[in-house]
Amino acid sequence: MNSRKEFFQKLIDEHYTILAPDMCPIQFHILANILNHDGFNIKIISPEGREAKDYGLSVIHNDACYPVVILAGCFMKELRSGNYDLDHTAVIISQTGGGCRASNYLSLFNKAFAKEFPQVPVISINFSGLEKERSLPFGLRRGVKMLAGVCYGDMLMNLVLQSEPYYPKDEVEAALNDCLSMLDAQIGKRSFLNKKKNYARIVERFKPLMPPQKRKPLVGIVGEIYVKYSPYANNHLADFLVKEGCEVVYPSLMEFLQYCIYNSLEDHKRYGKNKLSFPIWKLAYKYTLRICAEAKKALEGTSFRPYEDFREVVEAGQRVISTGVKMGEGWLIPAEMVEYTSGAVKNIVVVQPFGCLPNHIVGKGMIRPVKELNPEANIVPIDFDASSTSVNQENRLKLMLANLA
Ligand code: SF4
Repeated sequence: MNSRKEFFQKLIDEHYTILAPDMCPIQFHILANILNHDGFNIKIISPEGREAKDYGLSVIHNDACYPVVILAGCFMKELRSGNYDLDHTAVIISQTGGGCRASNYLSLFNKAFAKEFPQVPVISINFSGLEKERSLPFGLRRGVKMLAGVCYGDMLMNLVLQSEPYYPKDEVEAALNDCLSMLDAQIGKRSFLNKKKNYARIVERFKPLMPPQKRKPLVGIVGEIYVKYSPYANNHLADFLVKEGCEVVYPSLMEFLQYCIYNSLEDHKRYGKNKLSFPIWKLAYKYTLRICAEAKKALEGTSFRPYEDFREVVEAGQRVISTGVKMGEGWLIPAEMVEYTSGAVKNIVVVQPFGCLPNHIVGKGMIRPVKELNPEANIVPIDFDASSTSVNQENRLKLMLANLA
């Protein structure tokens, strides 16, 4: 057995608790349960209040990226809580392995934990060959199950976002919990991969919560992946917008995965990279397109809006930027802004970590070309950092809300 396999087997055999952030709470709930069915013990953490942010700032300088500061703080808060056997606890993060500081997160965590928690291993999920010894192994079986989990999670997130502005919270939560229980009970069984059937059951459960013909103003949220989704990192941005009378539109997590896969294909075309893995990425790309099309089909005949086809998002992006731009969230942010504002979603919040150079260029920096293309677009960029309060952000959001399209 190689040392990587031995390491992950030890986490299983010795019942390590593996703490994971709640970036996308619904998708991560399903993904954690898939890994737990394989023998791991993943615990998703959902911090509240300022404490975790202050802990993060105490171990990582605030000129580092906001996501790494906040994640380190969330883990520190949990590790200091006294609820865990620290000799049998690990933390897990996902890494894209992009050209910016995202590739250094693991070493930053190790440095942050070195003094107080040197025994806590930091492991990662990545497909870029980073920190191989500590990166979770993925075979075809696990990969297919995880992709199905992302699709189900995306479908549920989409339906919840479209129901919650129009129906009581407890009814939407009940539908969500029923669907999650239905999926949880299938993990490990063949039926979990029967997407057609499971999509149909999810849509059926949400049918009484379909949005009316006359919709509230639609507001899209795009930007840096962690801050965009994590309610803790973005000070519950989606909840705030719903309270202000809007319907929130999020891109799917699958869209981000497709963006990463597409970039690997582009690297091969442009620079001759990924010669060996190219056929695998190509297959993966086609597979994701197929399963997304199945999800779209399941929503036919309802008033729920499906996610955009990824190929349309690529085309939308190419109207304003080259798909060779891939630092941070790269061309995906302007592509999503063009796709949204060319359709029904004219209002957009672009979230970016304070000091994140790549996403300021492709986020805030691309607002003008997007507006030139779609003059009705009402876009506001919002910066997030560990020391700021939500008051500043809410004031800027209110300016955008005053001009709702
Ligand atoms: S995208 Fe921005 S926030 Fe994320 S790692 Fe790169 S520089 Fe940091």
